[in-house]
Amino acid sequence: MQLPFGVISCFGRELFPSAGGVLLWRGPRRITVWRLNRHVIGQYGDIPIVSFSCNPAQRHWFMTQTQEALQIVHRFDPIRFGRLQRQLKYVLAVSSDRRFLARYRSHLGVCEVNVTRLRPKFENCPETAAYIYAAVLVHEAAHGSIANGEIPLRYVARGHIEYFCNSEAAGFLRHWRPEAAELWMKKYHLAGKADSVCSRPAAEVARAETIG
Ligand SMILES: [Zn+2]
Repeated sequence: MQLPFGVISCFGRELFPSAGGVLLWRGPRRITVWRLNRHVIGQYGDIPIVSFSCNPAQRHWFMTQTQEALQIVHRFDPIRFGRLQRQLKYVLAVSSDRRFLARYRSHLGVCEVNVTRLRPKFENCPETAAYIYAAVLVHEAAHGSIANGEIPLRYVARGHIEYFCNSEAAGFLRHWRPEAAELWMKKYHLAGKADSVCSRPAAEVARAETIG
């Protein structure tokens, strides 16, 4: 019996969940873009939401949480939402044991969101998690603005870039609750590498954020 290609590729991803993510970034750019477009599960404004998961419940969870987070930024901070629309060409669900919550791949404008780290926030703090997720997206869009020159900080030290991106996330949170902005800076910046939004070894940063 011959299985349709979609079933085979889906089955493969279930067996090797990280393979799809790794292979996505190999090969020609147009193939990557084709794969991203093929797995769009929803949209908010101009921003497509992408998941390679074969689990409909997981796809639905990621789509609704992402749409809500984007809608929160839109409602509380329309100016920063404009930056999200310019910088986030895709919001992509990934699953990784590594510490990062999200990261930005500047050559394609892809914001990867680590659902392994995000989901517990919704389970532990359901009232505030959507706002934290929204702040994470603001943080990553600030990376995008720096990477493509909209904000002239591209050649400053990594620590300064993180400070700027965290300040942008806190600036958004201030529209919601000023105390949340302070907590954000304490947790994600003053705490240093203990708990950061997109902490990665320098080599990986260089690989992931190469300007193509
Ligand atoms: Zn960052």
